[in-house]
Amino acid sequence: MSNLDISPQLSQHGGRAAVSATPVRELLPGREVPLGGSTVVRRLLPTLGRRMVGAWCFIDHYGPDDIAEQPGMQVPPHPHMGLQTVSWLLDGEVLHRDSLGSRQALRPGTLGLMTAGHAIAHSEQSPAEHAPALHGAQLWVALPDASRAVDPAWEFHERLPVLDDGGLRATLIMGEMAGVASPGTAYTPLVGADLVLAAGTRTRLPLEPDFEYAVLTTSGVAEVDGVELTPGSLLYLGCGRPDLALRAGTASRMLLLGGEPFAEKIVMWWNFVARTGEEIAQARADWMAPSGTGTGRFGTVPGYDGGPIPAPALPPTPLKPRGRVR
Ligand code: MN
Repeated sequence: MSNLDISPQLSQHGGRAAVSATPVRELLPGREVPLGGSTVVRRLLPTLGRRMVGAWCFIDHYGPDDIAEQPGMQVPPHPHMGLQTVSWLLDGEVLHRDSLGSRQALRPGTLGLMTAGHAIAHSEQSPAEHAPALHGAQLWVALPDASRAVDPAWEFHERLPVLDDGGLRATLIMGEMAGVASPGTAYTPLVGADLVLAAGTRTRLPLEPDFEYAVLTTSGVAEVDGVELTPGSLLYLGCGRPDLALRAGTASRMLLLGGEPFAEKIVMWWNFVARTGEEIAQARADWMAPSGTGTGRFGTVPGYDGGPIPAPALPPTPLKPRGRVR
């Protein structure tokens, strides 16, 4: 997934100032962003109300869309650095290709985890012949300073562990919950779980009190700590919770995202996570260097039929770091 804003702004995220040490219930509306092809996404993070939840720094929820007569998702090759992308499908299929030579069809229940590290490029598209439905989420995880320059890597996990507790079925996408852990490589303590609630379910989900959490509904309506939650909004829950009350009148599905508050300040622009505006400008220049004249830092995506996405223009004022950057 690429941030397709035409004039993205440099923005500073992270640090503990925005973290609630105690339980809160902040309902934060997302905004609709056209992604390319026929796909419009709900961007739930970052928004004006919140920029990170643990190391999670980007949440796009798309669909369910009927793409029977549409191209579906068509995101040409674009670069990433300093983050991991987590691809999670609820319905349909997306074909991932990257500059490591990976080519992988992603389907519901499988985890596509791409660690950008210092540089990677990838494309994501609905196959030419595809199922009529497309529904999923694309999530980014910021890498901590000690790991943000690691070599790029692609992981595909076909089966993920599931906690089954009567009316609640929780699939561990990333991290650990109640002693059950995802095989996906994580660089900070965090959790990402897909929650399926059967109609009439009332339950409490065990949480880690030191983590901050947020929940979004991907289908149906659920009551989360007493707040009615429908697709299109993010409910920020803060830290300090030993568990979370969930209630579903009708069948519903959610994503629970949480983690240790991300203490480092980061700079986000377009598809990059860095620590300074200079690093962002260098990454942009490396991506835009004509093929054969640049460092080849991001590589090319073999097999993709079409050109890459050009980087947008940098805003005229470089980001002045504020506060403590570590
Ligand atoms: Mn992407």
